[in-house]
Amino acid sequence: MLRDIRSMTLEEIKDEFKQLGFPAYKAKQVFVWAQKGASFDQMTDISKEMRAILSQRFQNCNLLIEKRLVSGIDNTVKYLYKLGDGNYIESVVMSYHHGYSVCVSTQVGCRMGCSFCATGQEGLVRDLLPGEIIAQITTAQKDLGIRISNVVLMGMGEPLDNFDNVVRFLRLVGDENGLNIGMRHISLSTCGIVPKIYDLAKLDLQLTLSVSLHAPNDELRSKTMPVNKAYPIYELLKACRDYISVTNRRISFEYALIDGVNDSTENAYELASKLKGMLCHVNLIPVNPVEKTGFMASKKKSTENFVKILESKGITATVRRTLGADINASCGQLRRNAERKDNENRQ
Ligand code: SAH
Ligand code: SF4
Repeated sequence: MLRDIRSMTLEEIKDEFKQLGFPAYKAKQVFVWAQKGASFDQMTDISKEMRAILSQRFQNCNLLIEKRLVSGIDNTVKYLYKLGDGNYIESVVMSYHHGYSVCVSTQVGCRMGCSFCATGQEGLVRDLLPGEIIAQITTAQKDLGIRISNVVLMGMGEPLDNFDNVVRFLRLVGDENGLNIGMRHISLSTCGIVPKIYDLAKLDLQLTLSVSLHAPNDELRSKTMPVNKAYPIYELLKACRDYISVTNRRISFEYALIDGVNDSTENAYELASKLKGMLCHVNLIPVNPVEKTGFMASKKKSTENFVKILESKGITATVRRTLGADINASCGQLRRNAERKDNENRQ
């Protein structure tokens, strides 16, 4: 497969151009085009000869919009994209008072196997290239005629399981000649791959780290999140404390409330005691029911009780607004249906 030019930094394109004997200023033009998702044919200020040589050596990845669902409740837009190799991924665009935010995927599928998650049910197919993560943003921007100002890496896949490509994506998306979205406008969500949290801390990026906790003790967490067997809560919270002290950034803990599973008064007190003294915030999310999991969202009363207990212990918590409730906006479900349909057509 040809190297993806959209996944290359300006410096790397400059190096390649030096070897090819192309002028250095052309590298910047090509970088700008590539980040926008232009094909080599569309790079009109590059000579035909140069374009021909480039297209023999590089590809520029792109996505096709397979399906677009618009929520009738809050204008959330969900995309099902088809990748160059026929795989599907999802992204969701949300509109807030401060602007547009996009939730992007980092892998096709995921190998972490969380039992409440639609993406986790069918394992990992492959990592996404940095350019394929960028393309999710530019394709939505073009389609909706908007500028997206915030990015959350909270779609399909585990970002820290695709560490190098995700870090490269973060550098590309922040480039002033590219999308120019700064780290303070980016959140990355992880299920808790401890060594990678230390690696991320070392990079000292000013992004917001979200950690999917979902349970206050190992017994409960290991039941729904297999990753907890490798990296139990004590180790995870130690890595989070390290992250906070290196970066001086507050961590968000995600906690999906599942009726009768992790939403009791006792669970809330246990969570509060584990997070005591940490620079953090807890995001409570009523679990989104996924086919076959049997999990239901917590009742309103248990949710309110949970928040009250955390706050009484000095831990700030909010119940996250569910956006796009009518279009299944939490990721993984559209892709499952699309793959099934493709399989049926093949048979
Ligand atoms: N792999 C990363 C990021 C993608 S998942 C992670 O796990 O953090 C994004 C978020 O959605 C995570 O907090 C995940 O736990 C949560 N999630 C997955 N399935 C869900 C569901 N059915 N209901 C509510 N939240 C869910
Ligand atoms: Fe993977 Fe995150 Fe889903 Fe777990 S919740 S299976 S880590 S995408």
